[in-house]
Amino acid sequence: MAISHAAIVGAGMAGLTTALALAARGIRTDIIEQAPHLAEVGAGLQISPNASRILARLGVLSGLEAVWTEPERIAISSGKSLHQLSHVPVGRFARERWRAPYGVMHRATLQHVLQAAVENNPLCRLHLGQRIGQNCRTSIKSMIGSTPDVIIGADGVWSSIRDEIENAPEPDFSRNVAWRFTVAAEKAPSFLMPQAVTAYVGPSCHLVCYPLREAGGFNVVAIASGVSPGETWEVHASMEQKRMLLRQFKGWHPEILSLLTGMESGKFWPLYQVSDGRWQNGRDIVLVGDAAHAMMPFAAQGAAMAIEDAWELAARLAATPALGDALSSYETSRKARIARVRNRGAFNRFAYHVRGPLRVGRDIVLALRPPQALAADLDWLYGYEAGV
Ligand SMILES: Cc1cc2nc3c(=O)[nH]c(=O)nc-3n(C[C@H](O)[C@H](O)[C@H](O)COP(=O)(O)OP(=O)(O)OC[C@H]3O[C@@H](n4cnc5c(N)ncnc54)[C@H](O)[C@@H]3O)c2cc1C
Repeated sequence: MAISHAAIVGAGMAGLTTALALAARGIRTDIIEQAPHLAEVGAGLQISPNASRILARLGVLSGLEAVWTEPERIAISSGKSLHQLSHVPVGRFARERWRAPYGVMHRATLQHVLQAAVENNPLCRLHLGQRIGQNCRTSIKSMIGSTPDVIIGADGVWSSIRDEIENAPEPDFSRNVAWRFTVAAEKAPSFLMPQAVTAYVGPSCHLVCYPLREAGGFNVVAIASGVSPGETWEVHASMEQKRMLLRQFKGWHPEILSLLTGMESGKFWPLYQVSDGRWQNGRDIVLVGDAAHAMMPFAAQGAAMAIEDAWELAARLAATPALGDALSSYETSRKARIARVRNRGAFNRFAYHVRGPLRVGRDIVLALRPPQALAADLDWLYGYEAGV
């Protein structure tokens, strides 16, 4: 084994799952998080079978299954007519085909289940309300009282641990923002389907809706152009920003427009992605999750990739005698996987936002492909076995 003790900076999905995956291999961790408590940012989260399989190995899946919803299908529908263009079956089908479930839940549910597992694990120590600044080695040492074998940057898209790695990725604003809100079941328009994750698609923007049990209704995410408010998650929208959103959905089905107009407590997130670059320094620092590969949410895979990273990094650290070799083999293997997932996201973006004659072509292709064939296209993604 290359190491016995790691410091993890950041207690989001990436940091918490990395701590649990390392503990499963007998490796101690100190997890350092700047927030005084793990805030309930965002709303819904889809967890696909490639990630839920790992959550089962980490012993946290049953806690999620008790509260999440397993939709029957992932549908694509026209934003103009609400007509369903095609769908991929999930629900029981996902459990059988990809040997793990597909679930939707509030982000806070996953975060709380992971936090509780970390706090109950004697190999993990969580330090809240502690920010790691420049010269991370010195501040980590003074905070935890020893020098860890490896520092894992799980500090998100605006990572500062990345500054310790030469030629590391750099964040870049995509010029898109994600509007997120929930709508209570009693106020929900009848076109929202309680058994589906539905992407309503149209020129240059789209809307994803799915049931959210914890909110007693639906999660709605609208992706459209926007301006960045800077390095922050979740910004309360001004009236002008709301008007800007509505202008982009001009010509969409009136029920969708009315859903957007009636949005209460609307918030938006700037969508940043990071460029290519090194994820590790060859010695003692490595990145996981959004710090390494923040991507657009078009394939709903950011958190799933963080969970895969966690499992694979832990497996390599436990199995490889030299730390430098473990870090570089992790980077090589994960980069290939991430590149493929990014390509799928880019493909979805094109298919969702296409205009004009190409849109007609898309609708015909989708209508001609049976759901099982569309599901088979996703075997490489959802059937993936990380780091065994
Ligand atoms: C609109 C939208 C929808 C999405 N939907 C999905 C989905 O359905 N499925 C999916 O799999 N993914 C989805 N994602 C992606 C997913 O949310 C992210 O990829 C994931 O949350 C990244 O987790 P992370 O732990 O890497 O980073 P973060 O969640 O950003 O966590 C980083 C943590 O590090 C802490 N931190 C930062 N700097 C420091 C420091 N210096 N010292 C100490 N602590 C620090 C932060 O406070 C934070 O807690 C979506 C993203 C968006 C924007």
